[in-house]
Amino acid sequence: MKKGIHPEYHEATVKCACGNTFKTGSTKEELRVEICSECHPFFTGRQKFVERGGRVEKFKKKYGMD
Ligand SMILES: [Zn+2]
Repeated sequence: MKKGIHPEYHEATVKCACGNTFKTGSTKEELRVEICSECHPFFTGRQKFVERGGRVEKFKKKYGMD
């Protein structure tokens, strides 16, 4: 196994504002998104309130979701 061929590209943990996390390839170790396939209305088929990150973090803490 050779290592270091693509040192700038590795598996990243993506954290969505809804609390969902998933893996993807990225040049960054951690990514933050505000919407994902788990909470996007297109995928869920229902409308969901979408807040900016900071307020969602407070919401999750308040309800013990994080
Ligand atoms: Zn999401």
